[in-house]
Amino acid sequence: MSEISCGICADLLPLVEDGVASEDSRRAVEQHLAHCAACRRLAGDLSPVPPPDDRKILSAVRRRLAFIALALVLGGALLGAGISGGSGMFYNILLMPCIGAVGLLAFGKKGWLVPPGVFAATFVWTAVRDALQSSLAVGLTGGVFFGMIYAVLCALGVLAAALLRFALRKEEPT
Ligand SMILES: [Zn+2]
Repeated sequence: MSEISCGICADLLPLVEDGVASEDSRRAVEQHLAHCAACRRLAGDLSPVPPPDDRKILSAVRRRLAFIALALVLGGALLGAGISGGSGMFYNILLMPCIGAVGLLAFGKKGWLVPPGVFAATFVWTAVRDALQSSLAVGLTGGVFFGMIYAVLCALGVLAAALLRFALRKEEPT
């Protein structure tokens, strides 16, 4: 087959890309592309199938989930710190790992920032509250004490979620 024009090449290109062109057409297009930069560019535009918008939608959903999770984490941390006295302690032991787990699922690797965040929130809350009730020394000591406990519990939650996610990801067909 002799040389084809750019117009014919453009017509045949989609058929070649889809794999439905005849052998002659395919060869003619390849020959033309070999020396025609303009059609090569056209072929380059066509060949990778444009990715669907799923990724955009997914990232929007992820952002929204991350925002909800952030609200949950912050709310949970403040709630946990607020009820840290007396019987509330029991609920915190359950609550803090959940906060850590949610944090990891929502933020990925940045989820490891949640335990320090929980420590900071608990420390400030407890320190201010106890400082007002008794003295600054008591407040600071209590803040460090409860902050450490909650941060460790939270970190356990992060670890659990990380392991779970790792386990689930392994089973996903890729
Ligand atoms: Zn051409």
